[in-house]
Order: sequence, then structure tokens, then C-alpha cells
Amino acid sequence: MAAFSSCENRSYSVRLLSQESFDTTLNGKKVGLYTLKNANGLVVQVTNYGARVVSLWVPCKGDSLVDVVWGYPSIKSYLAATDCYSGPIVGRFGNRIGKGCFAINGKGYKLSLNDHGNHLHGGSNGFWSRVWDVESDSSSSVNPSITLSYLSPDGEEGYPGDLKITVKYILTETNRLKVEYAATTSKPTVVNPTSHIYFNLHGNTARSICSHVLQIRASSFTPTDSLLIPTGEIASAIGTPLDFNQPTPIGKRIGEPYQPLIYGKGYDHNWVLAKPLGKVDVVAAVFEPSTGVEMLVATDQPGLQFYSGNFMNGKDVGKYGQKHLYRSGIALETQNFPDAPNHPNFPSAFLEPGQVYKQSTYYEFRLRK
Ligand code: BGC
Repeated sequence: MAAFSSCENRSYSVRLLSQESFDTTLNGKKVGLYTLKNANGLVVQVTNYGARVVSLWVPCKGDSLVDVVWGYPSIKSYLAATDCYSGPIVGRFGNRIGKGCFAINGKGYKLSLNDHGNHLHGGSNGFWSRVWDVESDSSSSVNPSITLSYLSPDGEEGYPGDLKITVKYILTETNRLKVEYAATTSKPTVVNPTSHIYFNLHGNTARSICSHVLQIRASSFTPTDSLLIPTGEIASAIGTPLDFNQPTPIGKRIGEPYQPLIYGKGYDHNWVLAKPLGKVDVVAAVFEPSTGVEMLVATDQPGLQFYSGNFMNGKDVGKYGQKHLYRSGIALETQNFPDAPNHPNFPSAFLEPGQVYKQSTYYEFRLRK
């Protein structure tokens, strides 16, 4: 346990993951653990293995802090994990590309296939499995931050062009975890990175996220086939179990016999966000009544994939010895639409040399008493 003093001089206890349990060398590169804390006592821990958020302590009822990030206690357990997408940046293209195929200027590309004949989250060795470089670590300043970068070589997982990506995590004094992305390429390519943190606002992965109350500002979504590849259609969500315009407990309609829910085995869909493209705006809010933790999600992206942990199997054990239950984590992935390179009616995911891909997203934490 470590004690931190907040700006009001209160002392909070948090169980920090230890540096030693992340210190290692993978493929000749050093892996470490970095800790940012703000004046209100919030703490985020990040490892450069996959540019991954491994813990995030935020205020909860009872005048204390709770860790809302689903994950494991050490690098060893991340490497052995059954769910490799817990907390990292996924890409080059987050989410799915049908059959792993797309074309640029008439030339076809074939990506590695790692999901029932499709390409998911950048492939079997996507960004989530790479050791990122630590460009700068301003962990002791006001609004502490860490900047990580990764150079993805031409041809990696089948993608064209050397892609240089940087991700900056900033823990603001306004209790936001900001994630700023930038990428450039040496050849025309596709790019769609996203953060794949699983949140559990109980701070306990032995409790289901079905009690979390969710709101998403979106009237439509991108329907898929049974393997979750978009059909290209944009369909209305209004009046369906995918309509979260009014705050609704996740578990309320998750079992309804609605075809998209059957295909997703629960929620695993991309919502078309109701906001101007490129403007950072709050697009979703999640609230857990038992802890009082509320999280707002804001982004400049056109889509939000909400995944309710339907493939979590309840078998492995988390950071503090508790089980990772079925549906014990929620991912809210700010991004372009899945399979965008194959649908001209979706926002473009192509990046040309000389252009800069940018994304700005934040998660803001509040306590509702
Ligand atoms: C996808 C799910 C997938 C999960 C893996 C989510 O982003 O939408 O279909 O199983 O990631 O962790």
C-alpha cells in the first residue's frame, strides 16, 4: 500500500503494482512500469509493453479510491493471459477487417488472420504485443504524462508502409485520463488505433459490469454478419436494445432475442456517434451505483465500439487475487468504424505519406454520491 496526499491534504491508500514485477527485457527491449499521479490522489500505471494501462485509481464512495482497470499483477501474467487485449493500444487497425483484405489505389493487401478468418486488433502480433519506446516521462509534473512510440515496419502483419505512432497519456488535474494519438506513414496505408482498457467501476472483477448504467449519444450503429464484420449498412438503434440515449443498466436488455445481440453474444457493436466529425465531445457515460464512480468518455472519433466482455471466461485471476468473471469488464473503444477500408460510405481510414493521423480521447472520473 502507498499513501498519497491530495490537494485537500487527505491521505488515500492505493495498492500500487510494483516496478519489479514489470521490469524485464522482451525481444531485446526494456519493459518497465510508469506511475503518474495528480494532486487529487488519482493514479494511473502504464507499461510500455503494448502501451498498456494496468491500473487506474479514481475516487469512490467512502472517501477512498478504487482501481477501475481490469488486468493482471505482473508482466509475466500479461504474457500468459488468456485475454491479450486487456489495457493496450490495439492497431494498426483496431477492430475487424473482413477476411483481412483491402485495396489501396487498386493494389490488394492481405493481413494476418487471427479471428475466424478475419483480422482483429492489428493481428496476432499487433501493437498490443510490441514493446514501445518511452519518448518522455513527465510523471512528476502538474498534469503528469508519458509519451510512448512504436515504429511498425513496412509489411508488419501485412500492412503497407513504415508507420510511426505516438501515444501520450496525460493524467490531468481535472481527473481526466487523456489519450492523444499521432501517426505518420512512408506509404499509403490504413490506420485506426484505439485504447482497449477494460473498465470495471466496482473496482472488483469478481462483480459483473451488467449493473453499470450506460449512456451512449448515438442513434445508429453499423450492423454486422455473424462474425461481426459490418455489412456496410448504417441502421437505426432507436427503440432497440442498442438504444442507450437514456441511461440504462447494461444487463437490462443484454439477453433479448435481438439478432445483433445474438451475433455479438451480448454487446459488441459500433455506434455511429451523434456529433460533428473531428470535434472532441462527450459521447458516453458509465455509472456504477454501488461505488458512485462515474466515467465520461469524450472523443473526436466517429465511432464507439462497446464490448461487454462476452468472451471473458471466468477462469483467470486478476491483480488482487479476484476472479475475472464473465462480463467483468467493459471496453469503450473510440475509433473509426470496423472494416472501414472496405466501405466507401464509412469515414476514411486511409493515411497518405505527408498526412498526420490524430486522435484525441479522454476518460473523466467523477464521484456521484
Ligand atoms: C471486440 C470483441 C473481441 C474483444 C477481444 C473487442 O474490441 O469487439 O469482439 O472479442 O475485443 O478482447
